[in-house]
Order: sequence, then structure tokens, then C-alpha cells
Amino acid sequence: MTTASDFFQVSCPNDHLVRVPAGLAGEELVCPQCSGRFIANAADSVEAGEERLERAARQWLWVAVAAAALLVTAGFGAFLAGMLS
Ligand SMILES: [Zn+2]
Repeated sequence: MTTASDFFQVSCPNDHLVRVPAGLAGEELVCPQCSGRFIANAADSVEAGEERLERAARQWLWVAVAAAALLVTAGFGAFLAGMLS
């Protein structure tokens, strides 16, 4: 059975996207387009980069939500304080 995770994509030194079988991770490969040599590092793959971006985006979302919640709480507190005084 072939799944998407059997391959990952890395950029060669000349920015060609090369599809690499997962079994060749960590091996030195030759780019089919420019014959440039590079190490097929799964951590440098397009997929890993996208995952990092998604995680960073999610973190920023939580920071924004937390900041908004804090502002609402502070605003409500100020409103209550204004009502009581
Ligand atoms: Zn290349």
C-alpha cells in the first residue's frame, strides 16, 4: 500500500523539488534536474516545514485568543468596578 507518507519532498541546492522515498531519508541524493548533490533530510522536507508553519500559526492563534480573553476580562472588570463605585 502506498500512502503520502512513503515519500517526502526536499529542495535540492538549486531549489528543485525532489520527491524522495521515505526509505532514502538521510542518504545523499542527486537531483534529477540539475545533478546537484544533497542530503535527503526528512526534517528539511516541505512537509516538515508546513507542519512547523501550522504549529506556529496555531500558537499565534492561541496567543491572540488568550490576549483577547484577557482584554475582555479586564474590560468587564473595569466595567464592574465602574458600576460599583
Ligand atoms: Zn536541482
